[in-house]
Amino acid sequence: MMPRRLPLFLFVAALCIAPLVLRGYPLLMLNYVGLSVIVVLGLVLLTGVGGLTSFGQAAFVGMGAYAAAWLTTAMSWNPWLSLIAGLLLTTAAALLLGWVTLRMSGHYLPLSTLAWGIAIYLLFGNSQTLGGQTGITGIPPLSLFGWQLTESWQFHILIWGVVLSIVWTVHNMLDSREGRAMRALKGGVLMAEAMGVNTTRFKIILFVLAAQYACVAGWIYAYMQRFVNPTPFSLGQGIEYLFMGVVGGIGDLWGGVAGSFLYALPREWLHSHLSALLGRSGSFEGIVFGVLMIVILQRAPEGLWPHLRRLWPLREPAPVTASTAGATPLDVRPKPAKGDTILRLDAVTKRFGGLVANNAISFEVRAGEVLALIGPNGAGKSTLFNCISAVNPPSSGSIRFLGKPVEHCDSRRVARMGMSRTFQHVRLLPRMSVLDNVALGAHLRGRHSFVASAWRLDRAQELRIQATARDALERCGLCAKAHLPAGSLPLGSQRVVEIARALAADPSLLLLDEPAAGLRYLEKRELAKLLERLRDEGLAILLVEHDLDFVMELADRVVVMDFGEKLAEGMPQEIRRHPAVIEAYLGGVGDST
Ligand code: ADP
Ligand code: MG
Repeated sequence: MMPRRLPLFLFVAALCIAPLVLRGYPLLMLNYVGLSVIVVLGLVLLTGVGGLTSFGQAAFVGMGAYAAAWLTTAMSWNPWLSLIAGLLLTTAAALLLGWVTLRMSGHYLPLSTLAWGIAIYLLFGNSQTLGGQTGITGIPPLSLFGWQLTESWQFHILIWGVVLSIVWTVHNMLDSREGRAMRALKGGVLMAEAMGVNTTRFKIILFVLAAQYACVAGWIYAYMQRFVNPTPFSLGQGIEYLFMGVVGGIGDLWGGVAGSFLYALPREWLHSHLSALLGRSGSFEGIVFGVLMIVILQRAPEGLWPHLRRLWPLREPAPVTASTAGATPLDVRPKPAKGDTILRLDAVTKRFGGLVANNAISFEVRAGEVLALIGPNGAGKSTLFNCISAVNPPSSGSIRFLGKPVEHCDSRRVARMGMSRTFQHVRLLPRMSVLDNVALGAHLRGRHSFVASAWRLDRAQELRIQATARDALERCGLCAKAHLPAGSLPLGSQRVVEIARALAADPSLLLLDEPAAGLRYLEKRELAKLLERLRDEGLAILLVEHDLDFVMELADRVVVMDFGEKLAEGMPQEIRRHPAVIEAYLGGVGDST
């Protein structure tokens, strides 16, 4: 087993040696690969982390390059000022584009980046100010501390320095409170919102960051070439960047780095060898290359990086729970007194078209009690949960949480007020560790932004968040699994992880949708004990459950629903004897068993 950092060390060492052994064209090639890496790292963030696609990154590269070219030639600006101007311009454009498209779901972003890519390319080519198809020449050299950058080896240091800083800062950023929220964008939007994450904000942040990286690459490119023209910023190039990411493996930062190499080097090799073999072959190499890429994507849909990684087995990282041993969990909020009304529903009605899924449901939940909601499949229990947790607001009626009306709030707001929930269909991020999944529940309790975490200024707080998550896992008896990917746990345990995540939010009201489904007998006993402890601590628990023995033993009160109506409400013993309940629900279960 290799030490974990050895491959990184070897890679950096190779980069340091490169300008000493490489000269001329190969070193220049390496610089171009580095510039692509910068753009592709933005795509790893956008596509790999955020699940969003952009074909228009080349346009942002162009904006950086043209800002550099035009401002230093026509306006005689200092090159470094042109970087700031380029970044501001790119940020404004990305914010506008992101703000317009990212609030809509579906294919708006990829389509609008296509349009964006074409429009900017045409703008470069047709604007007389920007030199039309000829472009802009005579860009002054870049100087740093009075040192002029004109040689390839100097750019080598600059470019790969930028690459390594981006890798480092992005790595830190993803390993933080807001980073977890970003990682939840892919496939976990509804869940993340319920944990209080503003998912639109994070999508826009990722889009802007990716655009800024592209801009930096373009800016360096302009000073390396000392002239710019529209060709390298075409839509085709934008698609190639995306391709590099996909070939390398867009799910990982190093996949993005590898992708740029794996794309550029074979292409170069084919170019020189095929033209030597077949004389002046124009498009033949393109065809061979295309086929090669298709084969790669067919064989390695997640890119080549995961396969490359397996070639060098690394030592396991230290268990995360160990590092949090000395840390104090986050402060908890003051809780309502036992017996206070926490939640009050008045005539809550939810319609889906003609279907009335909840019809004028009213009940109360108090601090320090477990209220069970039972009823056959399709009775409307999950719908009611979604109304209460503001995932899907009621059509009419009022819901008061801690005395405040919440029927028109969004789920982030109720999460912030102290309501936390689990889902009937488990919503964990399967590749993220169990601990990170649970830490996502504590999202609203931290405050450092992604900028602070990029520079590791959030470590004290991050330790406390992790300690909180570890505590929640300990209470649920899952501490030993903290470092495993959540998706590798059996379904029953995944439900318990969801409870731990809800607990990490430090709620006053816990909504559990079928928490015991899929658990074995002993696990159910453990869960019941946990819920009893939480109740004794003064938490209000509203739970939907099918296992009647489980419900009857645990619940203080029971509400029975059928066909969207509330049939009965009372103590478990009363419910067992209630004629309507026996007929509609218990009787039905009895018949089928
Ligand atoms: P339960 O959780 O009690 O099994 P649900 O709340 O999931 O029941 O469903 C209640 C009824 O509402 C069912 O008839 C279901 O088909 C319907 N329903 C639930 N969600 C939607 C939706 N988003 N659109 C249309 N109908 C829905
Ligand atoms: Mg349900």
